[in-house]
Amino acid sequence: MDMIVVMKSTAAPSDADRVVERIGELGLTPNVSQGELRTMIGAAGKKSPAIVQQLEQLSGVDRVIAVTQPYKMASREFHEADTILDIKGIRVGGPHVNVIAGPCAIESRDMLFEIGRLVKDAGASILRGGAFKPRSSPYSYQGMGRRGLELLQEAGQELGMPTITEVTDPRDVEVVAEYADIFQVGARNMQNFSLLLEVGKTDKPVFIKRGLAASITEWLMSAEYVLSQGNHRVILCERGMRTFNEEVRFTLDVSAVPVVQERSHLPVFVDPSHAAGKRDLVPPLAIAAVAAGASGLIIEVHSCPEKAMCDGPQAVLPARFTKLMEQLKQVAEIVDHRVTQWGDAPSTPRRAESGGWMS
Ligand code: PEP
Ligand code: MN
Repeated sequence: MDMIVVMKSTAAPSDADRVVERIGELGLTPNVSQGELRTMIGAAGKKSPAIVQQLEQLSGVDRVIAVTQPYKMASREFHEADTILDIKGIRVGGPHVNVIAGPCAIESRDMLFEIGRLVKDAGASILRGGAFKPRSSPYSYQGMGRRGLELLQEAGQELGMPTITEVTDPRDVEVVAEYADIFQVGARNMQNFSLLLEVGKTDKPVFIKRGLAASITEWLMSAEYVLSQGNHRVILCERGMRTFNEEVRFTLDVSAVPVVQERSHLPVFVDPSHAAGKRDLVPPLAIAAVAAGASGLIIEVHSCPEKAMCDGPQAVLPARFTKLMEQLKQVAEIVDHRVTQWGDAPSTPRRAESGGWMS
């Protein structure tokens, strides 16, 4: 059973050095995760009560936690309360329900601004738009690249919305970080470990889509890659998986929401769009996800989907999106969530909120 030594936020770097040294002396393997506010040190190997006691007594140590799961910092054992992130003033996770919306791909300035404004008016709190598209075919539209990022940043600023966009290559992490607020790691890249390590070295939230055929454990291990690098701001997103069902693009695993919430403290979102593949199926899946307790959704919306460069058939039309947001508000209320970003939400969450583990 492995352990994690959580350092106090006031600990000196020399305290952490001493802990690392002691872990080595005890015949265990240390792994340092230098967070923004505090350091966590993993200690892989055999634990005993005496070892825990010795480590707990070292200067600067807050507590020592034993973790049975292969993922450590992502586990509920490590942190019992839901992690709640603050993304440019928007609270994400736990009882807060947020909807991320926008086009699949950024195609033009006019289109992005038009869609951005209408999703904002309907209550979406974060703007999505792909600039680097991970297409299954090398001949399909690949996205606008850096120009797309510039437009996304401009739209986010004008609309007062944080932005999310996919990063597909570790070499693009720097440029994406320059323009966007949240990194999206796509389903096809969930196990691109060098990409996960690279985004783990930044301080921007990382939104990790579940792989097309990934188990829950594999998905949480991907989160662990990011957390292990010191970036403790991770959001998970279920987006449907490959099954024999040919009626839908992917089969949405709604049960992943409560299963992951039991195993992990990280916020769980759902993408009904890529699971559905058809716009009419998006609202029922979105409603099911919020009813199941998801902390948010990411939805593709387009005002002129027949002209979309990517994923037009699954883009929800503006009027339906507005109505869906109304329906989601009611569902979120019923399942004891607080809807923070739109409608007449109660001013305090009904579910107890004890904040993130980063502070
Ligand atoms: C997307 O969000 O546009 C996308 C490509 O999603 P996924 O990685 O889940 O297929
Ligand atoms: Mn898409």
